[in-house]
Amino acid sequence: MNSRGGSGLPSWVFEERLVRVQQTMAERDVDIVMLSVGHDLPYLTGYHAMPLERLTMLVVPREGTATLVIPRLEEPRVTPHPTVFATVPWNETDDPIALTAKLAKGARRVALGDQSWARFLVELLPLMPNVEWVRAVDVVGPLRRVKTADEVAALQRAGAAADRVAAQLHAGAIPLIGRTEAQVSADISQRLLDEGHDVVNFAIVAAGDNAASPHHHPGDRVIRAGEIVLCDFGGTMADYCSDITRCVYLGEPAPEVRDAYAVLKEAQAASVASAVIGATCESVDATARDIIAAAGYGEYFVHRTGHGIGMEAHEDPYIVSGNTERLVAGHAFSIEPGIYIPGKFGMRLEDIVVATTNGPLPMTAVSHDLFVLA
Ligand code: ZN
Ligand code: ZN
Ligand code: ZN
Repeated sequence: MNSRGGSGLPSWVFEERLVRVQQTMAERDVDIVMLSVGHDLPYLTGYHAMPLERLTMLVVPREGTATLVIPRLEEPRVTPHPTVFATVPWNETDDPIALTAKLAKGARRVALGDQSWARFLVELLPLMPNVEWVRAVDVVGPLRRVKTADEVAALQRAGAAADRVAAQLHAGAIPLIGRTEAQVSADISQRLLDEGHDVVNFAIVAAGDNAASPHHHPGDRVIRAGEIVLCDFGGTMADYCSDITRCVYLGEPAPEVRDAYAVLKEAQAASVASAVIGATCESVDATARDIIAAAGYGEYFVHRTGHGIGMEAHEDPYIVSGNTERLVAGHAFSIEPGIYIPGKFGMRLEDIVVATTNGPLPMTAVSHDLFVLA
């Protein structure tokens, strides 16, 4: 997000998105969509709500422009798009919940954004007793998960920035031995910012047996020669996210590490290649999982193969068994199988991929090898 909290996009982008959301509302028999914190709001308005206790709520009717209920002191942060939404600022002594309920008067089915604070729903419930509540992800999600060419270009820019940091890691430009995981995590974070990210979303650094914990929190553990270092990092750049995982080995890898990594690399590449238009999300997961299982590591691949990505680091579509959704051009998602052997080592290999009519398009290109640094 920029300093004003807007995305800088022209009004026509948001007009088109509003029209498509309202079409989906009609198809799904939703009368009102309410969006607060989370990324559905900036997707529709360019505005990120402050995640604080004062209510910000976009109320979208099935026809006509939307209304943004917003604390008066935060109104200057909004870039106006009058063809998309009107702004209704509330004063400190006003009741924004009553104001919101009034805007939704007569609605039978209301779709509420997934990340709205529970307190706002709890307060709205008694004012809207006959309403059936559903999740806004079912209305806005199908639109958000199919990226336009501009959105893909934004993902490519973020991916390229993360790729440059991964290249620095591979080149040995990021010192590892003798530093703590936390120090390396801070170093990688600074490099993500230096390469153009606005914020760092995470920078996992996990050494040796810590790498067997997929979401390890980098700590005081000092990195030593003779171990694997898993680095999984990403941030947000001009509102779109990056996410990449690469592993480095400090010294000559033991045969068991080399063997497992060869399987992982093959599984990841095959899974990327299988991510063609028309393939189901679960088939892309199965491609990686079958290769890892056939090599005897099935029980050590403990998570789904990937997640969608866009304005959020994790969003639909999920690359997971049971998801029969078929890939269409513009779906963007990670492919990140891993092998985690408790008490010994772990490894993961991750790229963001966009499904296109020309086949799977990775956002990152740095080498997929287990990089050996002396
Ligand atoms: Zn954002
Ligand atoms: Zn990641
Ligand atoms: Zn990821």
